Amino acid sequence: MAATFKLLGTGAGPGVPSFYCNCIACQEARENPRFSRTRSGAILDLGEKKILIDASPDLRHQLLREKIDELSCIFLTHWHYDHFGGLGEVEFYVRLVRHEPLTLYLPPSAVEEYQAAFPHLQDVLVPEPWQFGRCYDFGRATLTPLPANHSIETAGILVVGKKSLAYFTDTCGLPAETLQRVQGVDILICDATFHGENWYPHSHMSVEQAIALGRATGAGKTILSHLAMHYSQAVTVRQLEQEIASYPGVSLAFDGLELEL
Ligand SMILES: [Zn+2]
Ligand SMILES: [Zn+2]
Ligand SMILES: [Zn+2]
Repeated sequence: MAATFKLLGTGAGPGVPSFYCNCIACQEARENPRFSRTRSGAILDLGEKKILIDASPDLRHQLLREKIDELSCIFLTHWHYDHFGGLGEVEFYVRLVRHEPLTLYLPPSAVEEYQAAFPHLQDVLVPEPWQFGRCYDFGRATLTPLPANHSIETAGILVVGKKSLAYFTDTCGLPAETLQRVQGVDILICDATFHGENWYPHSHMSVEQAIALGRATGAGKTILSHLAMHYSQAVTVRQLEQEIASYPGVSLAFDGLELEL
């Protein structure tokens, strides 16, 4: 079995559709659920090891949908609700089935907040602050957290198996050193939160900025993710696919998208 990187969720904080919204993007997703987007996260499946990257508030549904029934550890990119809100969902798996705590790799700056938010998970998760630039070896692939540009301490993750993949779910551009580390990566999955004006320019990117970042990294493929679809200018999947059609190697992320490594 090949190593795979699967996107569990590809939406920004509100998800698509949002319960309070009836824009064209949310209408499209209500009519056609394959265009709906749960909050962002991924799973690196190495066969014997399954590494969860971010625990979105939609985690339970994501694991059920993708028929994932075991986890080896959890890697959090940063301490924002749309990326950690589902941590509590692993409690009964650990207590009733696994009988052994899961290592939770998390930003050093998030340890105290984690302990304050989830005191009841003390015997379920073992917090282990990750280090930027350190290469975590999981056998068939390595995983290296690299600095991203976001409102709080945030990692993007460089995954190297037979192919290389950089996952930068929440970032605005990349620090120079990170940009250098991901040069020529086979697949870049990156933040494209905004369509139209970017009103959070120090945290996220627009579709245009994400495409430009893909070009700057020389990535073989650029996959746009963390899509709000209805910030600034609401857009449907059909419209957005037309808009990006002229950029070779650029495509949209979808929940459930699987990439071979
Ligand atoms: Zn996010
Ligand atoms: Zn909407
Ligand atoms: Zn964030």
